Amino acid sequence: MVRIFWYFNIKNEVKKMKSVWTESSVIPGRNPLPGNKRTEVVVIGAGLAGILTAFYLQRHGLHVVVVEANRIGSGQTGYTTAKITSQHNLIYDKLVRTVGEETARLYGKANQMAVEEYGKLIKRYSIHCHYEPMDAYLYSVQESEVLLREAECAARLGLPASFVRQTGLPFPVHGAVRFTGQAQFHPLEFLRDISAELTIFERTKVIKVQGHDVVTDKGVIKAEKVVFASHYPFVNMPGFYFAKMYQEKSYVMEFEPVESLHGMYLGIDERAYSFRNVGDKLLLGYGSHRTGKAPKDSPFSTIKRAGGHLFPEAREIRRWTAQDCMTLDSIPYIGPFSSLRPDWYVATGFGKWGMSSSMAAAKILSAQITGRKTPYDGVFSPQRHHLKAAAGTLASHGLESVKGLSAGTIPGAVNCPHMGCRLVWNRYDKRWECPCHGSSFEINGKISAGPAQQSIPFID
Ligand SMILES: Cc1cc2nc3c(=O)[nH]c(=O)nc-3n(C[C@H](O)[C@H](O)[C@H](O)COP(=O)(O)OP(=O)(O)OC[C@H]3O[C@@H](n4cnc5c(N)ncnc54)[C@H](O)[C@@H]3O)c2cc1C
Repeated sequence: MVRIFWYFNIKNEVKKMKSVWTESSVIPGRNPLPGNKRTEVVVIGAGLAGILTAFYLQRHGLHVVVVEANRIGSGQTGYTTAKITSQHNLIYDKLVRTVGEETARLYGKANQMAVEEYGKLIKRYSIHCHYEPMDAYLYSVQESEVLLREAECAARLGLPASFVRQTGLPFPVHGAVRFTGQAQFHPLEFLRDISAELTIFERTKVIKVQGHDVVTDKGVIKAEKVVFASHYPFVNMPGFYFAKMYQEKSYVMEFEPVESLHGMYLGIDERAYSFRNVGDKLLLGYGSHRTGKAPKDSPFSTIKRAGGHLFPEAREIRRWTAQDCMTLDSIPYIGPFSSLRPDWYVATGFGKWGMSSSMAAAKILSAQITGRKTPYDGVFSPQRHHLKAAAGTLASHGLESVKGLSAGTIPGAVNCPHMGCRLVWNRYDKRWECPCHGSSFEINGKISAGPAQQSIPFID
């Protein structure tokens, strides 16, 4: 009886975990794949990366089909905070030190061009998506030296960066890096309009890809090229993405009313928050951790306390979580899927910066698929080896995977269908999570995020 009560209580709490985007937009539904088909390119996944890639490929005159297991924008794109910026936390100084100045410069240029491309696209196609130019700030209440270094480094690489001491935050900061000319938008309104002319089959799940055959649960599509934009690629071999990527989960709470903070903000201190307004609302983000490794204290309680303290007039409206794929060297994997599969491509590992990275991926992949080279091919190549940058994460990811796999052999463990790691219950997000690769499942075992593709049998 107590268990049944617990189960239904949690199911109700999960139902409340909708985002401001999913609750304030409707994307017209598309039919599932009606049977077998033939096309030039299949894009797997109708999130931001998949839709933008399909959009540019179609603009280049290719015949493109998008297949989506669920609904357009129902993956992580529906739960993002949607800051469009080339300011990716403390990345530029780190990249210069680990992969070199030229690679860091190209990384910044690809992302800054992506930021600017949104503005052009939205204007050109008159897309109504609450697009607002907005400066992005990286702040600290404890130190300024590291921010000063980041600002100088980013500016040297050609980015619109400067070090400032004043921000629109409701507390004093020690310092901040300001990137001008960035933006924010409603990601699902954008997806709705940009996908309007694309051929998309929803509720069509890709089961496997065999050469040029994309096998779905509704039929087989024969394609000359295949793009994996499924967030975490679900094919283990070739590619070995499971060995070079894990996921991080973060928590978001929406408050109302909150006056404009005149910027988008991300803190770098241990207990720091992410801020962005949506009209008179505020999205307050906090609490990154490896998926499957939730902290002892509730991230939602911490956000609620901070929100109450900083904005005493505001009340919580919604809360939700999202997760993203983290690569070994902090650079996404965009390009050919594997040297063994020259006609497969991938866009993944956006490290919580998928707005600009999806656009960069779409531009790079559409060029590569139509036979053009870009200056960014090597920077984002999934086949690159940046040993200096990757070594630390490779070791810790390997260790976590071994731990998860060994725990999976313990009798009674609930195992992930992806590779058999032991699933862990996240009591704040109310989901089963895989600490190895980040797959997650609802309380009843239904799959909610890959790389696993099957649900697990009902867990009582
Ligand atoms: C808390 C949080 C806040 C964030 N805020 C920002 C931000 O402010 N700015 C920013 O730039 N980035 C942000 N990000 C990152 C950004 O949200 C993601 O990088 C981006 O949304 C990923 O888009 P995607 O298209 O790769 O994945 P998704 O949106 O997850 O799309 C993948 C799609 O593939 C589908 N799929 C999966 N498997 C199959 C299959 N077998 N067959 C068919 N379809 C399949 C899924 O259903 C899904 O719809 C944030 C991330 C987090 C965790």
